[in-house]
Formats: sequence, structure tokens, C-alpha cells
Amino acid sequence: MAMRDDPKILREIAEQNFSWEDVNPKRFNTNVMLNSNMFCPFHENHSTPAAKAFLDDEKDIIIIWCFTEQRRFSVYDYINLIIVRQWQKFSSVQDYLINRLGEEKFNELYTLAEQDIALGNEALMEQTIEYIDNLYNEHDNVIDFINCLYLEKE
Ligand SMILES: [Zn+2]
Repeated sequence: MAMRDDPKILREIAEQNFSWEDVNPKRFNTNVMLNSNMFCPFHENHSTPAAKAFLDDEKDIIIIWCFTEQRRFSVYDYINLIIVRQWQKFSSVQDYLINRLGEEKFNELYTLAEQDIALGNEALMEQTIEYIDNLYNEHDNVIDFINCLYLEKE
């Protein structure tokens, strides 16, 4: 079996399958987080709450923005930075996900994500070919076409 440890895919699986409550029910309550500032879970933050939760519309997930660190965090970051690296409760994010989801479900989600990425790459390639085709058709000769391609790239 392949390694199945691509951080991009692990991030996708974590973000799409776990809420903040799922990763730490004692600490997080999404409704409360969305309505007031909070202490940032990612740095030493005790006096004034330095973070706020937002809905990422594009991904449809809740993220935490830390005003001090000027950085966004998702549940993937919490699993990776806090549960795995700080607490060392699991040896890796992959280990955490397999433990929580079961190996079969994890493998299924991983394969689906790989397929999505492959399809995305294919679509991008088709777009690029179409773009070059159109550009070529707009030009009377090859030199013009190459000049134009070259200029548009810059
Ligand atoms: Zn912070």
C-alpha cells in the first residue's frame, strides 16, 4: 500500500470530517466561538482573547483567525500542532485519522481525495490546451503565435 501521508489530502480529510467539537469537545463550542472572541489555542494566550472563529464559505468549514499570529487555523492544524506535536497523543495526523475513522473509512476517503486531485489536474490540462488552441487560431502565423504566448506568460 502507498504511504497515504500527503499533507494536502490529510488536511482535506480532517477538515471535511471533523468539527472543532470533534477534536476537543471540552475546549470548543462552535456557536460560542462564532459569536465572540476566544483565547487562541495555538499560542500562549491568557489575558485578552486574541482569536475569532469564522466560516470559510468556500470550504464550508469553521476556521480560527489569530489576530496576534496573523494566521488562520483549521481543525487539521489543531490535530497536527496540538494533539500530535504538543501532546504527542498520536504519532502523526494520519495515525489520528485512522484511529478516529477506522482504517477502511480512512482508505476510502484517501482514495476519493486522490481521484478528485487527478480529475482536477486533468481539467486544468484541458483548459490550458483549449487556451493555447484559441490563441493559435487567433494568429496568422507561428511566429506571431509564439511571441504572443511568450508575452502573455510574463
Ligand atoms: Zn494565536
